Amino acid sequence: MSDKVKRTDVNTLGEFGLIDHLTKTNEAKHPSTLLGVGDDAAVLDYGGKPIVVSTDMLLEGIHFDLMYCPLKHLGYKSVAVNISDICAMNALPRQITVSIAISNRFSVEALDQLYEGIYTACRNYDVDLVGGDTNSNLKGLVISITALGTNQKEKLTYRSGAKPGDILCVTGDLGAAYLGLQILEREKQLWQSNPAIQPDLEDQAYLIGRQLKPEARTDMVKLFDKAGLIPTSMIDISDGLASEVLHICKASGTGALVEEAKVPLKDEAQLMALKFKLDPITCALSGGEDYELLFTADPKDLPIIRTMPGIFIIGEMTDANQGVNLQTVNGNIHEITAQGWKHVG
Ligand code: ADP
Ligand code: MG
Repeated sequence: MSDKVKRTDVNTLGEFGLIDHLTKTNEAKHPSTLLGVGDDAAVLDYGGKPIVVSTDMLLEGIHFDLMYCPLKHLGYKSVAVNISDICAMNALPRQITVSIAISNRFSVEALDQLYEGIYTACRNYDVDLVGGDTNSNLKGLVISITALGTNQKEKLTYRSGAKPGDILCVTGDLGAAYLGLQILEREKQLWQSNPAIQPDLEDQAYLIGRQLKPEARTDMVKLFDKAGLIPTSMIDISDGLASEVLHICKASGTGALVEEAKVPLKDEAQLMALKFKLDPITCALSGGEDYELLFTADPKDLPIIRTMPGIFIIGEMTDANQGVNLQTVNGNIHEITAQGWKHVG
């Protein structure tokens, strides 16, 4: 047969290239669709307050490992990571739906644990669980959650609103969740090679907690409102600082300069990075799962930001032609790439 069907490996596009490819002809028909694909959440308006919608799927073996992730934590984290996308729009969550697919490996008691975590998150983030779907799966556990939230239209923040000269800020320390994962993976491997060895996680509670129990920053959305700050753009840090800065720059048509010395890393994270022979800044840039908010603000709002606890100014937005760069502690400039950064010239 000579008529070969063209077959392109999805890896040639990568995750973001694939989303772009699949959605390039997608058009919104309804005036109620204020914003479609491309941000942390879609924005819908049926009159009155806009509705912000985001969905995320977590797969066993890809996003979580039940060897070291207790089901209760998993339930909590599944909700938190979805709500984080609502926060990234400067909105507060109101409802979630939860869909699960389960193999017969899971008992009712195990699923009760999962839902204990889900309900705890619903209480903590003040959201209602309003529906979902339950399916069987040949292997493993799949959890898909959709979160809905709202805020006044003029307070919503998009990835696309940054301007050159804006300051670039983050709401907390980075890299810890990735290092927590490295510790859990190391202990898993040690245990697999010798089940008699008990994991030694005692003094790593902070790093492991950042991996297993991330929080969505609804408190920051409330703080922005109280302080009277509307960020010019915002995204949540799920894939690592590098990837998220690039998303804001691409959507806003700007460049950025991140100062390594200003990127917040806890001492625990710095020390653990060195133990793993990793560069601490690389953990912040490429690690991911910190679920802090990365936002830009008009420099005129600097006095407000200075009064707000827990905000770190890590750089500024520049013209697109200046590129997206990291200034290292030694003063060298490196181009930031999705994988972290690479040397320029
Ligand atoms: P996040 O990391 O904030 O969850 P993603 O990188 O998963 O965002 O998705 C980026 C954007 O692409 C979002 O607007 C999302 O809704 C959209 N998207 C992702 N996958 C698909 C898909 N298969 N079809 C349509 N839109 C998608
Ligand atoms: Mg996001």
